[in-house]
Amino acid sequence: MNFFIKALISGLAQKWIKHTHINIWLIKSISCPQWMHEKKLEELKFENSYSQLPDIFYSRHTTSPLSNQHLISFNTAAAELIGIDPEESKRKDFPDIISGAKHLEGFDPLAMCYSGHQFGHYVPRLGDGRAILLAEVKTDSGDKWDLQVKGGGPTLYSRGSDGRAVLRSTIREYLCSEAMHGLGIATTRALCIIGSDHEVYREQIETGALLLRMSPSHVRFGSFEYMYYNQRFDDLKQLADYVIEQHHADFKELDEPYLALLKLVIKSTAELIAQWQSVGFAHGVMNTDNMSILGLTLDYGPYGFLDQYNRDFICNHSDHEGRYAFNKQPDIGLFNVSCLAQALLPLLDDDPDRAVEKAKNELQKYQQYYVDSYSSLMRNKLGLYEDKIEDKALVSQLLNIMHDNHVDYTMLFRQLSQAPSDEYENNIRDLFINREACDLWLHKYKQRITEENTDAIERSKLMKQVNPKYILRNYMVEIAIRKASDNQDYSEIDVLLNLLQNPFEEHDDLTHYAGHPPEWAQQISVSCSS
Ligand code: AMP
Ligand code: MG
Repeated sequence: MNFFIKALISGLAQKWIKHTHINIWLIKSISCPQWMHEKKLEELKFENSYSQLPDIFYSRHTTSPLSNQHLISFNTAAAELIGIDPEESKRKDFPDIISGAKHLEGFDPLAMCYSGHQFGHYVPRLGDGRAILLAEVKTDSGDKWDLQVKGGGPTLYSRGSDGRAVLRSTIREYLCSEAMHGLGIATTRALCIIGSDHEVYREQIETGALLLRMSPSHVRFGSFEYMYYNQRFDDLKQLADYVIEQHHADFKELDEPYLALLKLVIKSTAELIAQWQSVGFAHGVMNTDNMSILGLTLDYGPYGFLDQYNRDFICNHSDHEGRYAFNKQPDIGLFNVSCLAQALLPLLDDDPDRAVEKAKNELQKYQQYYVDSYSSLMRNKLGLYEDKIEDKALVSQLLNIMHDNHVDYTMLFRQLSQAPSDEYENNIRDLFINREACDLWLHKYKQRITEENTDAIERSKLMKQVNPKYILRNYMVEIAIRKASDNQDYSEIDVLLNLLQNPFEEHDDLTHYAGHPPEWAQQISVSCSS
């Protein structure tokens, strides 16, 4: 991981040098309490804290509806978070409300402005080109959720594109955000998909759709970069104050609230990426405009879960250099938090040198946060609850033989989690081409396991709670997309939603989704054009 040090020096310091001439001083799951009353849409309490910020933060927009809008799928788990009565989804005007065509009192639609580093290069202005924040909902328990419609038409930030989302990409984001939540990984959520007859032009004609995304915040690293690179340091401070006020009010008491914010984002980002690595998730477009200030998985585009373990896996077909390959994600996370640190420098100290020192000091902790978190997750996946020095080697040896033998990542860990039986070892060996390599590793693993005090049955139970039986494999989304696009059959979306919201359970009627992906899955290619 020498890259960590290199990135610190080359990333932060070089940018610092580049910009000194302009005299720069330079984020769980919340469950719905039983007492929460299920509401009609009109009864929700809408607030618009973001629209109270200065104009530079956003541009006001109304959405332009699609033709013949209709509900495709509704997620009751997300509805519960904001207290909507699920019956509301059956209202005739539900699609119009969700699309923003019919305004409810308190809606104040806007597109957020941000910039960001895309594939390593700074792009001065991006912004919500196809997403519109309809409103923020304040729940009875005091939580705030942004309701953002994705695909609602062009905005000031569309840069010549149509502002639309195709059904395919909408299903992908809907299912994956809920699958990530099911895996216990911090993420934005999704309330529903609205379909239409609207033609949208991509490589071929597709149908347009809308996704209603929910998140406690849609502020991105790029939101800060926009203010920083435009030298809007007062606005930069206002943005940081806004995030602190909304999400970390206790920081206001601290001597250095902005440093505390940076520290927390560095930690939550490192921990988020450790979780991604532990479940075999590749995001695909880890640009800083897709990085959440709350450490949530944000913007599901050409993502992919590993089938066979391949540390060099590139899920995004357009990522020719493999910048966002699976094994690069931890390093890219550091690059991204370095970009954020750079943007926060003016707030960290009046003295530029001291500001850089403080930022570097925090950034240096990223690697340890990541390693601690990843090690602990992997130990748990192996059913090891005592922290032993040799565990790191045990994990990396396993990953090496899995890589060499093209072993299915999810199936292997689920198989390891089975209760001991006569077939236990054979079932694991069957996943390997080189069985000797497997036996050698299993021998070490069994030795290590004996050093633990846990009962085998109990360990199996615990391991099954962290090793999912099901993940959202690309071919599964593809089946749901094909049925929806070809036959307007949306049933598979709901089947997968229910399955992936509970991926650790057995689901005896759906075990075909726990096996190897079909041959044709290898032909699926996913790129950014969504
Ligand atoms: P993404 O790679 O999806 O995070 O998008 C990068 C930028 O392109 C963001 O500013 C998006 O809002 C914008 N964008 C992506 N697709 C479209 C589209 N169809 N119309 C307008 N803007 C888009
Ligand atoms: Mg994005």
